[in-house]
Amino acid sequence: DESRAADLLQGLNPQQEEAVKHAGSPLLIVAGAGSGKTRVLSHRIAYLLATGRSNPGQILAITFTNKAAAEMRERIENLVGGVAKTMWISTFHSSCVRILRREAKTVGMNSNFSIYDSADSLRLITLVAKGLDLDPKRFTPKSIMHKISALKNELIDEESYAESANSADPFESAVAEVYKGYAQRMRQANAMDFDDLIAQTVFMFRAFPGVAEYYRRRFRHILVDEYQDTNHAQYALVRELVGGGDDDALDLPPAELTVVGDSDQSIYAFRGADVRNINDFEKDYPSARTILLEQNYRSTQTILNAANAVISRNPNRPEKRLWTAEGDGEKIIGYVGENEHEEARFIAEEIDRLQDEENLRPGDVAVFYRTNAQSRSLEDVLVRVGLPYKVVGGTRFYERKEIKDALAYLRVLVNSDDVVNLRRILNEPKRGIGDRAEYSVAALAERERISFMAALRRADEAPGLATRSLNAVNGFVKLIDDLAEVASGSGASAALEAVLEQTGYLAQLRSSSDPQDESRVENLAELVAVVREYERDNPEGSLGEFLEQVSLVADADSIPDAPGGSAEEVAAAVEESRRQGVVTLMTLHTAKGLEFPVVFLTGMEQGLFPHQRSATDPAELAEERRLAYVGLTRARQRLYLTRSEVRSMWGQSQYNPASQFVGEVPPELIEWKREGMDRPTWGGGGSITSSRYGGSSWGAGAPMGTGGSTANSPVAKAIGRVQPQKEVVSVTAGDRVNHTSFGSGTVLAVEGAGDKTVAKVKFDVGEKRLLLRYAPLTKE
Ligand code: ATP
Ligand code: MG
Repeated sequence: DESRAADLLQGLNPQQEEAVKHAGSPLLIVAGAGSGKTRVLSHRIAYLLATGRSNPGQILAITFTNKAAAEMRERIENLVGGVAKTMWISTFHSSCVRILRREAKTVGMNSNFSIYDSADSLRLITLVAKGLDLDPKRFTPKSIMHKISALKNELIDEESYAESANSADPFESAVAEVYKGYAQRMRQANAMDFDDLIAQTVFMFRAFPGVAEYYRRRFRHILVDEYQDTNHAQYALVRELVGGGDDDALDLPPAELTVVGDSDQSIYAFRGADVRNINDFEKDYPSARTILLEQNYRSTQTILNAANAVISRNPNRPEKRLWTAEGDGEKIIGYVGENEHEEARFIAEEIDRLQDEENLRPGDVAVFYRTNAQSRSLEDVLVRVGLPYKVVGGTRFYERKEIKDALAYLRVLVNSDDVVNLRRILNEPKRGIGDRAEYSVAALAERERISFMAALRRADEAPGLATRSLNAVNGFVKLIDDLAEVASGSGASAALEAVLEQTGYLAQLRSSSDPQDESRVENLAELVAVVREYERDNPEGSLGEFLEQVSLVADADSIPDAPGGSAEEVAAAVEESRRQGVVTLMTLHTAKGLEFPVVFLTGMEQGLFPHQRSATDPAELAEERRLAYVGLTRARQRLYLTRSEVRSMWGQSQYNPASQFVGEVPPELIEWKREGMDRPTWGGGGSITSSRYGGSSWGAGAPMGTGGSTANSPVAKAIGRVQPQKEVVSVTAGDRVNHTSFGSGTVLAVEGAGDKTVAKVKFDVGEKRLLLRYAPLTKE
């Protein structure tokens, strides 16, 4: 419909309009933050439908997170109405699951395969490594897991790796062995991990041209948002779907491909994201057309100038200048707290002031931090002053033990070959099937080449299994059979409730006196509510489909080192925050693609953000700077940069100088509400001498010195806060000292005076700056 098509072009700038109308050759839209990339994608899809160039079934729109997918679906629904429901608008992972379930038979898999999250994978990798007698200290299961994940992202399967791995390198040899065993166990368990979902789809397309052809005929328009964060496997997947390569024998023109992205916002290198995918787009698709967007519709010029100034320090990037018609707006506000509690107090007071004086609501405000652990001090203050807030991320619901246990039962009911989950629940709650019994059944399975479940059924043949254990095993098999009957007859929520009751899981928690178990019961109740809601929304949905959705939600966006929660949780939480008008707290990684009227970037400290790791690695530093750019560009009207002079990290009071990123913002853009002692040069005495340490926020913590723990130990982490030492030890350069966590060290330098005396000490674990007033340090 012509007038509808014309409407869709209303309000777009000329470059945006061009991008929406472009037809034929591959299209690359590169542009800085807030320039309307996502908006263009949505309008382009609507325009394709309105002009009749495509029908809904021919469109595949891929975004990076579930949240982004949900948001794009909503935007498109606003433009085109209900047909949006029939379109494939989803993440890479969800699209692949859908394709794989459909085609499972073709690739020799069962379509009810389980999806393992990283904890499941780690457990299986640990099992395999143990079976190979690898020393877990020398080759940690985690490091092996990371390597295998990286290989899958590079589309290197276990066999090619076995050939290409350097046999003289002990780590590579170990990985090659584990990779093989792991892949084999995964097949036996009828399971896929997250990296498999993408890689196996690509392998399938390559091995079965007929399957590839089906999808190529089906999807004639492929659109990818946040293309800068694609890894090699995702890149290859897009190529396979687009088709039209040299070796493509089909008489079918390639699908129309549109990708949008911003190489300055690439923040997932640690998961294999490769900016080259966007930088080389014109090389990969020689007929490609590139459109640049430069007008920003989100932020004030002041905010953009700050973001531009910071990101322009990164090497090897094409210069781009974002501008806005919005005007300069307010100055950026800077604040340095004496410690993280004081920093948090400033933020709370400022939000309060914005409400009173500027008519802003708490829901307009987002507070970002680099690591999840930083939310604690912010929460403390927000609770105290009674400001409603919501932490997005944190300990994720689906990561909690009781939730994982309950889901493990359900997974086994759907797929009894799922050995990892089966072994997880074998003796959970305790029913007298100990490690020995488990190994004996495993040995039987191995010997007879049968599944673990089949071996449980034949436990009477298991070598050396005690009668008592045999009875317990038989009881377990009967329990699983009973539950499976409920599951197949009465649906997902009935199955879950039966699991919780009949296994005794709930009874055990209820009878416990551990207060944590009380909240576990609440969490399980919440899970029941989740299942019921699912059944209400999907009356036709099966238990298997429910579990699939949970798997994707639970892990699609979980990032090992940059915690933030899954996309669905983020989406729900952000939306709820806005609706309820509460302050949103989240990590910088989680903030990608979002926008807020007021943004606080907190903990702007060297060693925290940029992260310590980046000190010696320019590539890491560049990635941290991109993360800063993402953070700065989330703000629409007001931006705050805050930090604290002293912060307890890993149970240590740490003096951190200002983040270099703050120094990279032109000083005239920032108005300081309170400056640090170390401005303009670190260690130079400031005018603020009064100390407010030792207040209530410091007194609550447990004292340090629980003996021998290292800074990174769970004990040290759990302690979290440090009580001030009574006396400031007096040391000078060259002194040998002893620290309760870091051990012996040598003082390199002493700076500052009185309560602010800082010693630079060289320990075995590295150099530390310690504020002597708090450091549990003694002279040797
Ligand atoms: P990011 O890089 O952060 O993902 P983006 O380039 O995808 O940003 P959008 O989220 O699409 O940017 O747009 C940023 C904001 O600007 C949104 O609020 C959007 O509605 C608005 N916007 C984009 N283009 C226009 C326009 N032509 N007129 C009015 N508002 C616009
Ligand atoms: Mg976007």
